[in-house]
Amino acid sequence: MVKEETIEEYIARTPKSKKRWEEAREVIPGGVGSSVRYFNPYPFFISKAKGSRIWDVDGNEYIDYLMGYGINITGHAHPIIVDAVKEQLEKATAYTIPHEKSFLYIKELLRRFPMMDMFQFANSGTEATMHAVRIARAYTGKDKIVKIEGTYHGQHDYVLVSVQPPLAKTGPKWAPTPHVYSDGVPADTAKNTLIAPYNNVEAMENLFKKHEGEIAAVIMEPVMLNCGVILPKPDYLKDIRKLTEEYNVVLIFDEVKTGCRIAAGGASEFYKIKPDLVTLAKAIGGGLPLAVFGGKRDIMETIGPVGRTSHGGTYCANPLSVSAGLACLTKVMTNKMYKYITDLGEKLNKGIRDMIEDTDVKACVNGIGPVGYVFFIETAPVDFRTAAVNDLDKTWEFWFNMVNKGVLPWGPLQFEEWYMSIAHTKEDIAKTIETSGDALRKCAKG
Ligand code: PMP
Repeated sequence: MVKEETIEEYIARTPKSKKRWEEAREVIPGGVGSSVRYFNPYPFFISKAKGSRIWDVDGNEYIDYLMGYGINITGHAHPIIVDAVKEQLEKATAYTIPHEKSFLYIKELLRRFPMMDMFQFANSGTEATMHAVRIARAYTGKDKIVKIEGTYHGQHDYVLVSVQPPLAKTGPKWAPTPHVYSDGVPADTAKNTLIAPYNNVEAMENLFKKHEGEIAAVIMEPVMLNCGVILPKPDYLKDIRKLTEEYNVVLIFDEVKTGCRIAAGGASEFYKIKPDLVTLAKAIGGGLPLAVFGGKRDIMETIGPVGRTSHGGTYCANPLSVSAGLACLTKVMTNKMYKYITDLGEKLNKGIRDMIEDTDVKACVNGIGPVGYVFFIETAPVDFRTAAVNDLDKTWEFWFNMVNKGVLPWGPLQFEEWYMSIAHTKEDIAKTIETSGDALRKCAKG
């Protein structure tokens, strides 16, 4: 439980938000546009954002590390993105007929992901992973997929399995029991979604042997960023790549969070691994809704109009999103900028680590470049189960104390992370480290 005084301070700072939320929940389930935006007692409502800052309707200013769950890698309302969107807005928001910027944009992605031959458009991470799974099935003629325990790949049924299963229902750790995450997902779905623990090659091989000839694909986040931040052990990704090749299983790297963020070419570049398919969203769209999936020509051309696998979408490659994405990737996010957010991210990780040592709280920081997370456990986790013992009460105590002092450290969920943008400054980092010291001291008390 978060301390009463902490919640009281939050409520005292946010009366207008409370009023907005009370109105909103009458007409929107839970009063929020996406269920993960709700938290107890109520979420604050935003009035505007600029650079590294957001302001709520009560006038409180926050250093924003949520950054739209990582969408705003350029910071809010970057002038180059604003100009690109304005320029396109004058021409049209949608043609639904091919246009030049779409292939210029894909060419930039191919430059960043040279192991891919083609990309195709989608509008969200959910759509991208849905298409990737479908074409892997079409390409291999098999139905089963393997998903890693504790990861999130979006809202379609086949990946809503063992997202964050209750520990009591997870089964043996070397062979997790698939657990359907949401009401409304047919129980049968779990028959085609097999679950493997992260950072465990042997368990993956056991699944491959047990279901030999039945598995179309492994879908995984190369770095687990939906479980706080969990890093791959040395050689884990390389070994999974070797194994999937040996068993003719399509390897899908879901780089919705890592892509064009931890390096220009995402985790594929960072760890020098060539997946068969990659899914991208968030940082690739300059803050607008944009997603893609890409792969080798023979796999990609299973989709229409070349092949017989369904793909489409009224909003796919819409020129407004593509313009923002093109400006983001070609004009703003240069190598220098990747170095900048990586350096700042490392500074923040180190600063909070030092604060943890000073305050003697049982916690640790796990991070990679521009993303990081504080786990309230002593040693860095290696998979979902070692993360799931995180102290939830301390996590929220820390989060509210940061928010009450004007720092939004991550989204209002247990296992999110901070996202550094190019708008963050050394001064922002210094203030955040100082604030985290105070928040950690509150966690240490009682
Ligand atoms: N894959 C991963 C790895 C994600 O983190 C997310 C969203 N957080 C998705 C897919 C789904 O993306 P979207 O919310 O754009 O549908």
